[in-house]
Amino acid sequence: MSDFEGLKALVTGGASGIGRATAELLAARGAEVAVLDLDPSSVDKPLLAHRADVTDDASVRAALSAAVTDLGGLDVLINNAGIGAQGTVEDNDDEQWWRVLDVNVLGMVRTTRAALPHLRESAHAAIVNTCSIAATAGLPQRALYSASKGAVLSLTLAMAADHVREGIRVNCVNPGTVDTPWVARLLDAAPDPAAERAALQARQPAGRLVTAAEVAGAIAYLASPLSGSTTGTALAVDGGMQGLRLRPV
Ligand code: NAD
Repeated sequence: MSDFEGLKALVTGGASGIGRATAELLAARGAEVAVLDLDPSSVDKPLLAHRADVTDDASVRAALSAAVTDLGGLDVLINNAGIGAQGTVEDNDDEQWWRVLDVNVLGMVRTTRAALPHLRESAHAAIVNTCSIAATAGLPQRALYSASKGAVLSLTLAMAADHVREGIRVNCVNPGTVDTPWVARLLDAAPDPAAERAALQARQPAGRLVTAAEVAGAIAYLASPLSGSTTGTALAVDGGMQGLRLRPV
């Protein structure tokens, strides 16, 4: 896979879970990779680490500029930082709604705005947004989170249209339930984490959770020239949940 050799990539939320797996995969395949995260203290070489909060425009601009200087340019932006929320529309107040939309949607807008001038200089420019099956599945108890990921899907398509003639491809991945520290935190909060994990696995069409490495593989494909004619798409990485028309109960 020499298609990654020399690519300069930035991964938001790259200190944990899907972002971490993506940063490590891209680096292992020969890309130069910078991570932008609220807490990048666990990030080791060869990954370059930059602290930033995607809800703070000044922080994003400063970190992105420093990362591009370190990398010597930018070919790939992985917009992955995100947070979750549970409940129906009655369970989250306005403050919680604005908070999740600020991180999950506007966070991507801020990093993309700061990255576009650099991506225009690249011959292999690509943006990959981490969306979710929640964007289209109609998941129960996920009103706010689903709305935020619905916005990410629409944003992906609009950005793909806006920048296709500039040679900047924009795609997203739609993961199902992925075994990351995020999901581990949710399970740990249950009265019986082991039983909750078993129930969660049983609800998956494939009988197991998606791995962060599998989502990273899809993101890496969409980020590389291997997918050079693919833009404006959402790639499901969900163990068959969407393709098989199965849904969690
Ligand atoms: P995670 O909690 O393991 O990692 C998220 C990372 O984002 C963390 O390192 C965190 O510090 C960083 N982050 C959070 N808020 C930030 C902010 N304001 N500024 C900068 N960095 C910030 O989560 P994960 O499971 O790897 O999720 C990553 C992405 O994948 C999210 O966008 C999430 O919505 C999406 N996703 C996850 C799943 C799943 O089941 N885990 C499923 C579908 C989609």
